[in-house]
Amino acid sequence: MSTDTASIKSTTPPISPSLFGLTKDDLVEIFKQHDEKPYRVDQVLEWIYKHRAGSIDDMLNLSQPIREKLKQQFRFKTLSKVTIQGSEDTTRKYLFKLHDGRYVETVLIPASKGLYGDKADRLTACVSSQVGCAYGCKFCASGLAGLARNLTADEIVGQLMMVEELSGQKVNNVVFMGMGEPLANFKNLEKALDIITGQWGMNIGARHITISTSGLAPVIKKLADRPQQIRLAISLHGATDDVRDKIMPVNSKWNIEELFNSLHYYKEKSNKRLTLEYILIKGVNDSLEQARILAKRAKGLKALVNVIPYNTVEGLDWERPDDEHCYKFRNTVRDTGVVTTMRIEKGHDIDAACGQLRLKQESSEGIIKAPIKA
Ligand code: SAH
Ligand code: SF4
Repeated sequence: MSTDTASIKSTTPPISPSLFGLTKDDLVEIFKQHDEKPYRVDQVLEWIYKHRAGSIDDMLNLSQPIREKLKQQFRFKTLSKVTIQGSEDTTRKYLFKLHDGRYVETVLIPASKGLYGDKADRLTACVSSQVGCAYGCKFCASGLAGLARNLTADEIVGQLMMVEELSGQKVNNVVFMGMGEPLANFKNLEKALDIITGQWGMNIGARHITISTSGLAPVIKKLADRPQQIRLAISLHGATDDVRDKIMPVNSKWNIEELFNSLHYYKEKSNKRLTLEYILIKGVNDSLEQARILAKRAKGLKALVNVIPYNTVEGLDWERPDDEHCYKFRNTVRDTGVVTTMRIEKGHDIDAACGQLRLKQESSEGIIKAPIKA
């Protein structure tokens, strides 16, 4: 569960970098080393992010020798599409294969429900930050087989580029709520954020990006120190340490008090709205007493609360409470004046928690052993 740079290095594969993982500053440096004119950098970036070139050979206003040099040094697209589930006006789930045979999931959600984006009728992409996850929350498919590795910056950016290409639509909001713990892959996350928000890059405003974390208090402080106004969502899922301890091992490292200290720091530094995420698991964290404590904690931070009825995961015994109880829980929080949202989908199989598609694929290939039938 270490977040130091040594662990980041050891779980990042040693391969030639992709152009999708370079910032403008990186490219300027590289072109300088090759004695190329700085305006060439703008040309390359335009090919990647404006014209959406399919390969380095498509970059027609670059000379052949420059293209050859780039091809020797860099890969281009590093993700390949395996399956797409869902259709245009519903949630779509994409399964991508990575260069080393591992898999990653990305989800496109058509109309933002107004919680993470500013406007409705926007397209939200839910991206993954790691293959698997080391944090082992008891209810989550992504953590079931542990952490395989961090995603590189180009694999994070690549998910967005691929879903835009495959859907033919522009992504307006990005949420880091797919597989993995984004704050445990902070170095690559920061680079990806620079590329996603860069005007020369994907040009998506920081205010349209939400990072979800299970509560890595020291890294929340680091994020707060960044000048950008990224939104933050906290997977709380328990309003007291005894409840949170039962389902989220991360709580033994940074308990609720430490977590909230870092959230107050974040709030002071960035003054951005925070969201407390609270999945409802029957008989585990869904008492109305928890709802009242949750409301109190949210008030102290002026945070929004998002209540999420649990999506069942194959191989795990946790269940969601019935709809009536979910509404009762939500109303208990809402009646205190805290802005509270909850969405109960009818057929929630396609919306099923991220991580299951990849788990099925990788266990069917024998890459991992997981309690999910292939
Ligand atoms: N690691 C980060 C981000 C990825 S998980 C985090 O934990 O915040 C994104 C969200 O999905 C988290 O709030 C997580 O708790 C939630 N989640 C995981 N499994 C779920 C399930 N089966 N049903 C509903 N939400 C789930
Ligand atoms: Fe990891 Fe988040 Fe799943 Fe916990 S909820 S196991 S931190 S992906």
